[in-house]
Amino acid sequence: MTDFTATRAMFDIPPGMIYLNGNSLGPMPKAAPDAMNRFLLDEWRTELIKGWNTKNWWMQTNALGDRLGRLIGAASGTTVVSDTLSIKVFQAVSAGLAMVPDRRVILSDNGNFPTDLYIAEGLIKLKDAGYSLRTPDPEDVLDSITEDVAVVMLTEVDYRTGRRHDMAAIIEKAHRVGAVVVWDLAHSAGAIPVDVAGSNVDFAVGCTYKYLNAGPGGPAFIYVAPRLLDTVEPFLSGWYGHASPFAFETGFRPAPGKIERMRIGTPSIAAFTLLASALDVWDGVDMADVHAKAVDLADLFISQVEARCPALTLASPRDPHQRGSHIAFQFDHGYACMQALIAQGVIGDFRAPDIMRFGITPLFIGEDDILRAVDILEGILQDETWKAPEFQTRAQVT
Ligand SMILES: *Cc1c(COP(=O)(O)O)cnc(C)c1O
Repeated sequence: MTDFTATRAMFDIPPGMIYLNGNSLGPMPKAAPDAMNRFLLDEWRTELIKGWNTKNWWMQTNALGDRLGRLIGAASGTTVVSDTLSIKVFQAVSAGLAMVPDRRVILSDNGNFPTDLYIAEGLIKLKDAGYSLRTPDPEDVLDSITEDVAVVMLTEVDYRTGRRHDMAAIIEKAHRVGAVVVWDLAHSAGAIPVDVAGSNVDFAVGCTYKYLNAGPGGPAFIYVAPRLLDTVEPFLSGWYGHASPFAFETGFRPAPGKIERMRIGTPSIAAFTLLASALDVWDGVDMADVHAKAVDLADLFISQVEARCPALTLASPRDPHQRGSHIAFQFDHGYACMQALIAQGVIGDFRAPDIMRFGITPLFIGEDDILRAVDILEGILQDETWKAPEFQTRAQVT
């Protein structure tokens, strides 16, 4: 059984703050500053270039990938970390297209996170070979997987509403018609149980700064099914993914049969240091426990808000099996209301046009936080505090 009192004590959250935004940027592990100092003083300062060997910097892409892999059901040797999620989406989709060379369609949905769609658009322009991107409503994706689709590119959990795709059904249908599936697990990894190996996932990508708590701009990850590792083309091919990087050959030869081939260039070891601190918290954690507790907390949050804040309308699926781990409410004055909440220490965020998002993250959020957050929200709505002029101006990041 996961000890959530212990995990909560491992985060440094400002006193009085109720942090319901772990779905966007996780909080800092208490161990992170010392770990960073050790990296600076005992690794970079003292070892300098030797650190790539003596401190194993070179293979942290894989060591951390394996640790993260446990949380998404990936076997050792099938996940690496580095780069950004946008880049990993490009790599996975371009690799997928090459596996189905006679087809010209990328299928996604119109609720997908824009960067995923933009990356697909750019890739289509770059290939300049008659490719197109289809974006049906999320509910129509399954029926849209037809025999002309090369790659199905989906984010499992919708960044706005938390709606969750039926991963098993989509993979089954896609494979039946000969399409490849790329899953973006940005709002799944560390939020809900995922079993990439058991579900026969082809490619999965995600980030580490949301539910995994690796800090702003933390490295992304990519998973490739072991059956593809011999043949998958990385396309964004860099020396770090070469079969023999220190042979410095003029031609690219991908690391044979290994996930290393999806590496591109020199990663940030400072960022890996923060990811390692974050994964230390996850070591004693069972994803099934996290999910069970998140469902209890989310159900409590929904029932309290609906009972006490009738101006807000639930925008997330009510059935916990059909959603991820953040809860969205619609409110016409959602932006101002969220600013008023933040001013009182309840941190969520806002997604246009009218969605207030609240991340439910049991590693550091408990029932007391949920109840206190709803008390404050109810007060803001009753007193119409959100109408104050200072809550009306949109900041650069919402
Ligand atoms: C957060 C998120 C991203 C962000 O990509 P970056 O390259 O890390 O900026 C991409 N896709 C989805 C679905 C996300 O939720």
